[in-house]
Amino acid sequence: MITFDKFFAGSTPVVASAPGRVNLLGEHTDYNDGFVLPIATPMRTTVAVAPSRDDAHYFYSEEMDDQVILPRRGRLASGYGRYIEGCIRVLEQLGHEIPPLRIFVRSSVPVGSGLSSSAALEVATLRALRTHLGLALDDVQIAQLARNAEVAYAGVQCGIMDQMASSLCDETHMLFLDTRSLDTRVLSLPAHAEVLVMDSGVARTLAGSKYNERRAECDAAAAALGASSLRDVTDVAALAQLEEPLRRRARHVITENARVVRAAEGVDAAQFGRLMNESHASLRDDYEVSIPELDTLCEMLRAAPGVYGARLTGAGFGGACVALCAPGSAAGAGALVLEQYNAAGHKGELLMPAATQHGGSL
Ligand code: ADP
Ligand code: MG
Repeated sequence: MITFDKFFAGSTPVVASAPGRVNLLGEHTDYNDGFVLPIATPMRTTVAVAPSRDDAHYFYSEEMDDQVILPRRGRLASGYGRYIEGCIRVLEQLGHEIPPLRIFVRSSVPVGSGLSSSAALEVATLRALRTHLGLALDDVQIAQLARNAEVAYAGVQCGIMDQMASSLCDETHMLFLDTRSLDTRVLSLPAHAEVLVMDSGVARTLAGSKYNERRAECDAAAAALGASSLRDVTDVAALAQLEEPLRRRARHVITENARVVRAAEGVDAAQFGRLMNESHASLRDDYEVSIPELDTLCEMLRAAPGVYGARLTGAGFGGACVALCAPGSAAGAGALVLEQYNAAGHKGELLMPAATQHGGSL
């Protein structure tokens, strides 16, 4: 374990942070050119930057307890350092001269649980570099650079939702993102609402293959309808000509887009919760990406006091559920449901609200 003081010994670093994100509505719509509605988590990743004392970059992550040394013109083959390397290299590709740096990472965003710790790391790193080097970059550019860093250096073919949400949202502001035009609108979370996220404890083993299958089905449905993507189809009646399962797959995408648009028009918390419940039913019945554990978890969440609605979040086949709750009730509902769910032999985990929320301070 390397301490912050030892890592920087004598120098005063620049510090910046960025949150994780959870998608409230708009699942499996992004690759159909549709709409998504994520919000930031209160859990954040904090990055501190100071000049290096030699010609190499030094990264240290407390979570990984791992120091990575990157020669100034070198290239990392694997590991978390590639996310930070990517942030440095995308800035170099823009023509910025990046001196050798020491970069220290502390985070309260759970890694690999679907709350996008990777985007939080990239956005926090780029924010710290922006301040340290005095770069003129706006928050949308930061998101685009963060995404490019993840694709080109960490080798993850991600969309831009996570980085946009991390860069533009906070825990009371959600992002309406049009994944075709990349138009964004930052919107307030409905008044009197609080977000709860619970992991089902089921790994998303099937998610990869089924994800590709669903993408192919959406492409086939759009082609059969003569549309370039399902985003351009808004009339559910037009789906009558499709064969199953394409008709149900397309119906999910079209109704899900409509739910996101409806929620973004400004609905109260109770109505927002109903849209989340409808989203889950659509993901379960039409898109067929739920599993019994996620259905059970959503039912338990809906039955808990103060919960307006719940749905699976992420690609499905495991992972987490998100619920909208009345203020002050998320922690209680989370504790109650966690006990019920795990009493049935599952290994659920309350991700949000988190027990400890350090990460914002270094
Ligand atoms: P997530 O859903 O959390 O974004 P990913 O698999 O996309 O899951 O990203 C997780 C990866 O991001 C980790 O394996 C690690 O390489 C990197 N990462 C995220 N947070 C940290 C951190 N605090 N310290 C070091 N690496 C991190
Ligand atoms: Mg990620």
